[in-house]
Amino acid sequence: MKKKVAVLGATGSIGKSALDVISRDPEHFEVVLLSGFSRVDELKQLQSQFPFAKSLAQRRRDAEGAEREFRNELCSVIREIKADIVLNGIAGAAGLEPSVAAIEAGADLALANKETIVMAGELVLRLAQEKQVNIIPVDSEHSAIFHLIQNLTNHNSSPLPTPHSPLPIQEIILTASGGAFRKLSIKEMERVTVKDALAHPTWNMGPKITIDSASMANKGLEIIEACALFNMPADKIKVVIHPQSIVHSMIRLSNGAVYAQLSKPDMRSPIADALYWPNIAPPVIDPLNFDSLTLEFERPDAQRFPMLTLAWEAARLGGLYPCAYNAANEEAVSAFVSTKCGFLDIPKITEYVLQGDWTKKIDTIETVLEADKKARLEAVNFIQKMG
Ligand code: NAD
Ligand code: MG
Repeated sequence: MKKKVAVLGATGSIGKSALDVISRDPEHFEVVLLSGFSRVDELKQLQSQFPFAKSLAQRRRDAEGAEREFRNELCSVIREIKADIVLNGIAGAAGLEPSVAAIEAGADLALANKETIVMAGELVLRLAQEKQVNIIPVDSEHSAIFHLIQNLTNHNSSPLPTPHSPLPIQEIILTASGGAFRKLSIKEMERVTVKDALAHPTWNMGPKITIDSASMANKGLEIIEACALFNMPADKIKVVIHPQSIVHSMIRLSNGAVYAQLSKPDMRSPIADALYWPNIAPPVIDPLNFDSLTLEFERPDAQRFPMLTLAWEAARLGGLYPCAYNAANEEAVSAFVSTKCGFLDIPKITEYVLQGDWTKKIDTIETVLEADKKARLEAVNFIQKMG
């Protein structure tokens, strides 16, 4: 039986990589849904490659409420389409509700959209447990950790912990490329442009995550993502700069031994690992050659990259703080892209929003969506005052 796959965000960087993996193995996979947001022409082209898939794009881009309308439509299609696995490659907070719809529909979730876990990790993981579906992380670091834990603990099922089975790991060490500004001083960062921030040294990704890599907000989001996915306290999640992006992350066990996962930086690899899980994926990228390989590691500089410290703090505080961190950062990045603020204002805006009260308990997705809206409003007001 073929695995029925829904690809959300099919026109994006993750979506296209996923379709590349899927198209190599038509015996194994059948694409049942392709969704895009902008770039409708590209979606039409994809539709011709996968003629049996339903395709869904936002039709009325400028109309008020069009995005909400599209999301509702997307969620109802996800609920009806009966996919075995939903690959969520939507960018940003817009990915949360489609993730929830996938789980509610009983599909496994191959999750690139880290915002789903950052905004509502506990709730989403609980729902997945109730519905007995698997969440398989696609974010390369979390994919590495997921598969390391699974191999080390000899699990046949998902290695994500339940309240009764804490993981035997002492700490998680996330690797970070350091982004486009790894070597810049604060003074130099004052002047950087959007084009500078979009020049990622190792990964080829969508624009938002590339800017987040330059500010290290991406690693901040991943700290929060790791805490929630693997049920670890914030102080057990470490970050190390590794400019080559070959080691995708590491875990240190209680006996001190460190285990790492290595491959070339290409998202097709963790995407394949998720789509074929629990089986081992066939090779989809060139193997790593050790003949001339240099691996460097260095400490991240919290002073130059305050988004890291803010993320640890948000993760430690829990509740709606991670959601506020993400919303504030999304608004700050969009202001930076439209030159309404400078690059170094991104952490200032996020810090300002995090000073609010985000202690309300997360009981429903609506609570999370309300907090997301409120945090964005506070960020936008602050940006206006700054200007
Ligand atoms: P991208 O900008 O290249 O693509 C985003 C996709 O989402 C596009 O298909 C777009 O049409 C769709 N989209 C955008 N806004 C939408 C909305 N409001 N509603 C529905 N669909 C919408 O982004 P990307 O780099 O592929 O990243 C996607 C997700 O994967 C992000 O959460 C990112 O953090 C995560 N991720 C990406 C990479 C990578 O290498 N690109 C690596 C790890 C994690
Ligand atoms: Mg990552």
